[in-house]
Amino acid sequence: MVLSKTASESDVSVHSTFASRYVRASLPRFKMPENSIPKEAAFQIINDELMLDGNPRLNLASFVTTWMEPECDKLIMASINKNYVDMDEYPVTTELQNRCVNMIAHLFNAPLGDSETAVGVGTVGSSEAIMLAGLAFKRKWQNKRKAEGKPYDKPNIVTGANVQVCWEKFARYFEVELKEVKLSDGYYVMDPEKAVQMVDENTICVAAILGSTLNGEFEDVKLLNDLLVEKNKSTGWDTPIHVDAASGGFIAPFIYPELEWDFRLPLVKSINVSGHKYGLVYAGIGWVIWRNKEDLPEELIFHINYLGADQPTFTLNFSKGSSQVIAQYYQLIRLGYEGYRNVMENCRDNMLVLKQGLEKTGKFNIVSKDNGVPLVAFSLKDNSLHNEFEVSDMLRRFGWIVPAYTMPPDAQHVTVLRVVIREDFSRTLAERLVIDIGKVLHELETLPSRISAKIVLANEEKDAVADKDKKDVQKETREIITAWRKLVIQRKKMNGVC
Ligand SMILES: *Cc1c(COP(=O)(O)O)cnc(C)c1O
Repeated sequence: MVLSKTASESDVSVHSTFASRYVRASLPRFKMPENSIPKEAAFQIINDELMLDGNPRLNLASFVTTWMEPECDKLIMASINKNYVDMDEYPVTTELQNRCVNMIAHLFNAPLGDSETAVGVGTVGSSEAIMLAGLAFKRKWQNKRKAEGKPYDKPNIVTGANVQVCWEKFARYFEVELKEVKLSDGYYVMDPEKAVQMVDENTICVAAILGSTLNGEFEDVKLLNDLLVEKNKSTGWDTPIHVDAASGGFIAPFIYPELEWDFRLPLVKSINVSGHKYGLVYAGIGWVIWRNKEDLPEELIFHINYLGADQPTFTLNFSKGSSQVIAQYYQLIRLGYEGYRNVMENCRDNMLVLKQGLEKTGKFNIVSKDNGVPLVAFSLKDNSLHNEFEVSDMLRRFGWIVPAYTMPPDAQHVTVLRVVIREDFSRTLAERLVIDIGKVLHELETLPSRISAKIVLANEEKDAVADKDKKDVQKETREIITAWRKLVIQRKKMNGVC
């Protein structure tokens, strides 16, 4: 005898995946649903909606790693349930983070004796690292001013106007005035001379960037150091330098070993680097290294007695994952100096292929440098009919995500497109991108200009309405320009380049 049973509504396995009631109804967006749903349905629904995100590998806007070896993926998945902060329970993970700190400090030429351990910490990214470094400078400066009986309520920090947004966050959250050196046409990084001129007795540090976010250019840290040594000598101050090497810290040591930007320069007291950029680890890891113990005020270090032993910590948050620390250690020992150099050289070669391809079109000005972070920043020679935002939009149709943004003051009239070359952006993809940009340019030539089309429209209206005078047309032209400006500002806000 065969017993048959009617399938219940909730038995998802007997329904066709896309006919079950779970995919037929729309999901609540604001309130948690009353009832549970089967795990298969939850997976399917979320997975499908996520298909509409861009493809990370084609996201040329970001410096952040989008590919790692499958062996490392395995280590990451195996440690995904380990809370990093339980250091006494996971002593090996803590040990691996310390090894990473030591290796990176040596890479940056920290003045360490043979058996001396480095001073530094793993963070969620360069932003947290910069908050910690900034706090250390602020506290050191305050302590010194207090000891001298001088006011200590108006600290400032000197940077270029090209700083990444995390410096503005640091300034606002921790109440330090940000004094920005303005950029100029054709010079998109901090001018060391102007920076040193802005330094005063309330300056807690000058922050230089190794690898400007906007065009990848390395700032001249050596010149900054030399000028500041002079100024310190004549004023009696001891203004230090921090290097924001978020992107360049894992590039310069391998392909520009002669470049002096790190602890070889006496005024450089701390350096941050993003492990998740050219450190070649997925998002969620950064590092900050101090030159000496004395550069990190003891009172900022918390000694927690948690679940066992005394653990010194200096971070902003408490719990976090362990996977990224383990993945960083994997990359350092798996690739070694040789491996990192090969990866960086390959990125630079692919950057040159792309740059030369763009130059060949004759339509672009290249605003990035060959020596720097491997990226190509470029703008249209003539953007009177079509602009960089249209190029960015049209490339999206081929699958490429290439951001366009305007430069900070005083170069805000310059708009650039930026392609970041990461490890997983191969020669074939670089060549393909050149071809697709060529197609976009060709297509744009055949399209009427959106800008002039609107002006023509305004003129036609003027002809049609007899009593409409010239002023109206001028007004409309002004409105069109304002609309474009608004669009650009809006784009700038949305295009969080990272
Ligand atoms: C990316 C970047 C940052 C921020 O780093 P996160 O690791 O994303 O927090 C800071 N400064 C520079 C120069 C950067 O390129």
